[in-house]
Amino acid sequence: MTSDVLVVGGGPGGASTAYWLARNGVDVHLVEKKRYPREKACGDGLTPRAIKQLLDMGFDFDGLDLHRVEGLRAYAGDLKIELPWPDHSEFPNWGATMRRADLDGTVAAMAAAQGATVTEGTTATPVVDQDTVTGVVLDDGVDRHEVHPRFVVIADGSNSRFGRGVGAARRKDFPYGLAVRGYWESPNSDDRFIESQLDMRDRQGRAMPGYGWVFPLGDGEINVGAGLVSTFKGWKDVNTSEMLEAYAASLPEHWKITEETVHTKPIGGKLPMSMSVGPKVGNNWILVGDAAGAVNPFNGEGIDYAYETGRMAAAHVADALGGNRTGLAGYSAELEATYGDYHRVARVFVKAIGNPAVMRSLTTVGLRSKTLMEWTLKVMANLLDPEEAKMSEHIYKAIEKTVNIGS
Ligand SMILES: Cc1cc2nc3c(=O)[nH]c(=O)nc-3n(C[C@H](O)[C@H](O)[C@H](O)COP(=O)(O)OP(=O)(O)OC[C@H]3O[C@@H](n4cnc5c(N)ncnc54)[C@H](O)[C@@H]3O)c2cc1C
Repeated sequence: MTSDVLVVGGGPGGASTAYWLARNGVDVHLVEKKRYPREKACGDGLTPRAIKQLLDMGFDFDGLDLHRVEGLRAYAGDLKIELPWPDHSEFPNWGATMRRADLDGTVAAMAAAQGATVTEGTTATPVVDQDTVTGVVLDDGVDRHEVHPRFVVIADGSNSRFGRGVGAARRKDFPYGLAVRGYWESPNSDDRFIESQLDMRDRQGRAMPGYGWVFPLGDGEINVGAGLVSTFKGWKDVNTSEMLEAYAASLPEHWKITEETVHTKPIGGKLPMSMSVGPKVGNNWILVGDAAGAVNPFNGEGIDYAYETGRMAAAHVADALGGNRTGLAGYSAELEATYGDYHRVARVFVKAIGNPAVMRSLTTVGLRSKTLMEWTLKVMANLLDPEEAKMSEHIYKAIEKTVNIGS
């Protein structure tokens, strides 16, 4: 049996695409190569943008084991500032943390409740003729057969073998990130603020563009991680596991972790950013989430953008199924209209902070000004109101000017 649409990958991107397609009455089949609950290297942090998407999908926030978060506590060395999530006309003013092992299966089940067929433990491989996926081989380790959907949504994450199989590739001149995380026990796991350390150093003591984080999970454990972006000389030589180890050893006292504290073995992953993977669509396929390079270069979040791009892709696929002759092309245009300007600013910004002097000034001078940091949080989490967003270039210049004054 072949469905009209096959979605490859059951992370946030694939699950939201399947949810919105099924809710729209489309015959859709989601295949996930692992089985839920499945591990995913992630900070487990949900910003207000992600919360909005989950609310729109009818996620049960009261019934599920999810830890609400009021804002961000940012450190640069010993400097500290607490910033509540801002009020916004479109997004809630709260965030949350939830283990991806629990979150992703829950959202896939929500897609199934809307009528999507969800198959776990099955790997999809494309059969391609030029720009068209003519078939998809589904392999569950016992049975291998080919299906022939009319459209294929590619949501197979940052490694995106399926995406490469159809000819999509990452722009090497765009920024790229690496991050690693582990879980530690902590008596302060109920903290209502997520935390970041902006002053990360390489072995020579130079400031690096990246940050360390502690995301409390509210269940006795905290998610501790570290990530960096590729815009500085020597980034390939950085060992992210060592970076995490050093950061974990330097956590503020309130987390109360010691060398004896039990923790999991850290795991890491890639962060393809700034819509760096393309083309976004072919004759009958479309990329979403990390497979499209949708991670925000400012802060490395990608769950919200996977939900958002999945929702957009679902609308365009439904349109194309309904006979819209422009097919899927409208999706690329919508991505550009929604994220184009923001990502252009973000690319300039992450390139600027690749300079250790700029990074150091931003973290030390910036953190002394609450107003500046409030703006920075809004920009970095993409939470500017529509009126403010029109001024984003202007705001960026103001931040850059302050940074330059300090350097
Ligand atoms: C260490 C780290 C920390 C992060 N922290 C955060 C954070 O706190 N907040 C945030 O917003 N973002 C964070 N991110 C980014 C975020 O994890 C990703 O952007 C997000 O998971 C993207 O969702 P996705 O659905 O596109 O891909 P994924 O979540 O990777 O899902 C892809 C799915 O496809 C499946 N799959 C792959 N190939 C196939 C195949 N051939 N057939 C069938 N299934 C297949 C995989 O098993 C996987 O389940 C972090 C990333 C890393 C590496």
